[in-house]
Amino acid sequence: MNTPVRIPASPVDALNWVSGRWEPGSGTKQDVLSPYTGRPIGRVTLSARAEVDRAVTAARAAAPAWGSLTMKDRAAVLFRFREILMKEASEIAHTVAAESGKLHGEAEAGLMKGVEVLEFALSLQNLEQGGRMEVSRGVFCEERREPLGVVAGITPFNFPAMVPMWMMPIALGLGNAFVWKPSDKTPLTSRLLAEAWDRAGLPKGVLTVVQGGVESVEALCDHPSVRALGFVGSTPVARAVYARATSQGKRALCLGGAKNPIILMPDADPEVVGQGITASYTGCAGQRCMAASVVLAVGDADPLLERVVAESRKLRLGETMGAIISKPSLEKLRAAVGRAEKAGARVLLDGRGAGAPQAYGDGGNWLGPTILDHVQPGSEAAAEELFGPVLSVVRVKSLEEALEIQARNPYGNAVSVFTQLGYVAEEVARRAHAGMVGVNIGVPVPREPFSFGGTHESKFGHGDITGRSAVDFWTDRKKITMKWALQKNWNWMS
Ligand code: NAD
Repeated sequence: MNTPVRIPASPVDALNWVSGRWEPGSGTKQDVLSPYTGRPIGRVTLSARAEVDRAVTAARAAAPAWGSLTMKDRAAVLFRFREILMKEASEIAHTVAAESGKLHGEAEAGLMKGVEVLEFALSLQNLEQGGRMEVSRGVFCEERREPLGVVAGITPFNFPAMVPMWMMPIALGLGNAFVWKPSDKTPLTSRLLAEAWDRAGLPKGVLTVVQGGVESVEALCDHPSVRALGFVGSTPVARAVYARATSQGKRALCLGGAKNPIILMPDADPEVVGQGITASYTGCAGQRCMAASVVLAVGDADPLLERVVAESRKLRLGETMGAIISKPSLEKLRAAVGRAEKAGARVLLDGRGAGAPQAYGDGGNWLGPTILDHVQPGSEAAAEELFGPVLSVVRVKSLEEALEIQARNPYGNAVSVFTQLGYVAEEVARRAHAGMVGVNIGVPVPREPFSFGGTHESKFGHGDITGRSAVDFWTDRKKITMKWALQKNWNWMS
């Protein structure tokens, strides 16, 4: 059984962290409601432009000293931060879960994925960061990596600790000052992470937290001192943030939403299918960008789908499956299931009647696992990101038909295939319209140092948010050409 989530008894304030102090914002105040209970567990004040400016100015003041330390000195802070996270992982997971609706175990696992990125950042201290070469006799070229100065990260509600940890350790480890704008739906975890960095010895001002919504994101895009911006969220916002930031000369990497198909072949192992597909569409109550939400079922898939239904029936809300972030999201999901049913889909499993788990009262946002069969390709349930525990099954006659349908997906985060045939797996990997591919794995999140990132409308910008390309994203390359003696055989390049 999963650890029951501790819901704060009285609301906690989510403040701005500027120069090592917690400060209240001045904009609109809003309650942070726990998806478990529907009751306020916090209050957040959305920052206005002036507060974003104050935060960026503090970061700018702190950046030069931090950037001029050696990587090894900065890594010492990252090591201490890791120790704190490992000790306090369960505590942090309670806050992540209480505000995002995840199970405690899911929240802890997300944090550990963040720690994996932190470990990648720690390894950078042992890598040579540039190179030097004698390009003609007595003339040397050298390359150095330099921090950018002030950079920013904007994160979504569904991973309040993991997604910021995709960015912070690498950006900070490379010597930047980082301004973090958490989701206004899940701002409470930022307090724990900022204080952990502080206790690890991160100099004041190097990490800044600005709570906020649209205005603060736009202010970060527009601020002349912010050189790079990492964003993770829905596709329409990712596209808009990318356009706004890059039009002002910033580098931006903006990860968006997804609709991830699983190609289910009739030869697949039924046990692997039952467990893998159920875990994929119900984990984090379907609220993750790597969740499978469509099965392209090839041929006679009935026995395999029965396994998925059977596994899904075993889930218990509040114990082995979490809650939906908000009442409007819950209503949106229920309405989409209703429309699919009206359009002819057969409801194999209906989560709409699932009651609230007793342990959390009856005010929470709950939807049981829901499976829709015979969904039409291109329809809302087959093509749009619903972001909940709803699985749409599209019946197809052949692998070719499945590959053609997935190729029309405007998103490009993940594609998985369940099969026991190597050549089928290879064909899917080759033709997958996605940045991440799974073979008999429903949530194909690459482990570091393999980087995380999709393609097409799941990502705007070049490179991935973790791994080696993230090192390029958060640094400049400086090239130095030098000679120390007069050359006899000089030419125009000398
Ligand atoms: P969201 O786009 O609503 O919000 C993301 C961030 O942008 C938040 O900090 C929010 O405060 C801010 N924001 C919201 N509306 C804005 C606007 N109009 N202008 C500027 N800023 C705005 O996303 P969400 O609902 O918090 O998160 C869920 C979405 O994130 C899903 O679409 C999911 O697929 C996606 N996601 C993608 C990845 C990935 O790696 N590709 C990972 C996690 C989540």
